[in-house]
Amino acid sequence: MKEDRISIEKRYDLVIVGGGVTGAGVFHAAVQRGLCPLLVEANDFAWGTSSRSSKMVHGGLRYLKEGKFLLTRAAVRERQRLLSVYPGLVDPLNFIMPLYDGHGPSMGAMKFGLSLYSLMAGEKQHEIFSRAQILGQVPKVCQTSLLSGVGFKDAQVDDARLVLRLIFDGCDQGGVAQNYTRATAIGRNAKGDVTGVHLKDTRTGQGRLVKTPVVINATGAFAETLHPSPVKGFHIRPLRGSHLIFPGKLYPMDRVISFIHPQDNRAVFLFPWEGCLVLGTTDVDHKGDVSKEPCITKEEADYLMEGLAHILPDLKVSLADCIASIAGVRPILSKKKVAASKESREHVVWKEGGLITVTGGKLTTFQLLARDAMKAAQKYLPRYPKNKPGPGGGAGAESTLKSGLKKGIEYGGSTESVPGLGPGRLSPKAILRLWGRYGARVLDMAAICCEEDFTPIGTTQTLWAELCHGARHEQIRHLSDLLLRRVRIGLFLPHGGMDMIAEIQARIGPHLAWDDARWAREKKAYERVWQDAYAPPGRRMKSPK
Ligand SMILES: Cc1cc2nc3c(=O)[nH]c(=O)nc-3n(C[C@H](O)[C@H](O)[C@H](O)COP(=O)(O)OP(=O)(O)OC[C@H]3O[C@@H](n4cnc5c(N)ncnc54)[C@H](O)[C@@H]3O)c2cc1C
Repeated sequence: MKEDRISIEKRYDLVIVGGGVTGAGVFHAAVQRGLCPLLVEANDFAWGTSSRSSKMVHGGLRYLKEGKFLLTRAAVRERQRLLSVYPGLVDPLNFIMPLYDGHGPSMGAMKFGLSLYSLMAGEKQHEIFSRAQILGQVPKVCQTSLLSGVGFKDAQVDDARLVLRLIFDGCDQGGVAQNYTRATAIGRNAKGDVTGVHLKDTRTGQGRLVKTPVVINATGAFAETLHPSPVKGFHIRPLRGSHLIFPGKLYPMDRVISFIHPQDNRAVFLFPWEGCLVLGTTDVDHKGDVSKEPCITKEEADYLMEGLAHILPDLKVSLADCIASIAGVRPILSKKKVAASKESREHVVWKEGGLITVTGGKLTTFQLLARDAMKAAQKYLPRYPKNKPGPGGGAGAESTLKSGLKKGIEYGGSTESVPGLGPGRLSPKAILRLWGRYGARVLDMAAICCEEDFTPIGTTQTLWAELCHGARHEQIRHLSDLLLRRVRIGLFLPHGGMDMIAEIQARIGPHLAWDDARWAREKKAYERVWQDAYAPPGRRMKSPK
């Protein structure tokens, strides 16, 4: 890095590297403590694993089976907390699991596990179903050897929107977050203490040095690029998990079907998400370059389709019905190289003179990772009063809005009762959805949108207003940021939404300072990204050069 191109910036209390859920959680926690953090993300916010998960906020029944009671209890408590803090973003989700003779867990084992699960949640959250009840609730389910089944409760989140909510709430209260900014090196003094971090704008190549006494490395599967593992033989093992997305009308359902794959006895899920059906996930070693967007392979797709044919043999569905796919890489810490699905999902914290690395874990437990990282960083941080309200006054706006939204819901979903949201009418569910995803920033959305913007985009549950708000206010650099993470319509619409691109451009054009040449470049780049990483397998065309 040439010295003459480096500018030296103000000092931050801490710098967080990585804009996935772990980094966003640390950022949010730091702001809550009255600190002034900087978060940098090399790509777009939530570009990594945190937009590619199964979207489940769950205790994880399988961890109980492995005897990991503390991990499960912590995750169940986090689930309950997130349901109460982020309604509309984290929503209850029912699961149903048919049980078979000679295959998968027995009723006895499930009853025991689910009783513990309910105990951890502090209320009964499971049910036992007879064979007839399962047949009634899961049409077309495989009947051969079917004995009975169980039902239980967990929760679902739009993972990318959770990251964005944490980041933008943090920004509104005094934090600074920059996407497309890569941390290239950690600055240290002669004693080895951290003094700053070298950053590079990934578009311009411009370098800069930011001063800070502590850097939190929250780069997930990339963690060892900034901080090699201090434990001999204990390294990140990137494990890929992939999903297939289908139109919801193929098998309308309001709950997850959990089943055991006949090939390897792993639990696989078929779940509803935003009007679509998602089938996943796989768990395989990721041999590819982790800095590139991962994609599903034909073998993984065949494995998932085999599982689906096993549980719903009479469902007329094939890969030709698939609208999109999504693959992510788990940041798993591994020592013994056991079977992929048996690797621990627990997180680690490494410390080295002001460089704190936090990786592993789950989306559900992001707050626990943040808490542990902040604890490790404590001695380098200034002593501010705990929970000091940050600048920006976000909390006041939030409470006004929350009471407005509550009223809106009580009075049948009239958005007139929501301050600033205009005269349109939305269902109570749609109002809660906006509140959950955008918090106090719904007011900014209302300020730039008209009544007709509060209508859905095509067959999706996403509103045009969300797209306009994302374009105007949510730090997008590329069309892919907008269509794949600010909103997720690139996953729900055929061809990634390219069939509607003219209308999309007309609606969001006024919110972006892009000329025709920029639009042409963005459309081409988006198509390439979608084809390479999100298209259904088998229909991946050769990318345009
Ligand atoms: C298929 C799959 C399904 C899953 N399902 C669930 C689930 O249902 N529930 C659940 O609780 N968990 C689930 N998980 C786990 C969960 O998604 C991850 O644990 C979590 O998203 C990891 O978040 P992270 O922030 O640590 O990493 P990431 O989200 O990958 O974020 C790391 C970020 O760091 C950035 N970065 C890297 N290097 C640099 C650098 N030098 N400078 C700046 N930025 C950098 C990357 O671009 C990336 O965006 C799933 C994981 C997978 C793969």
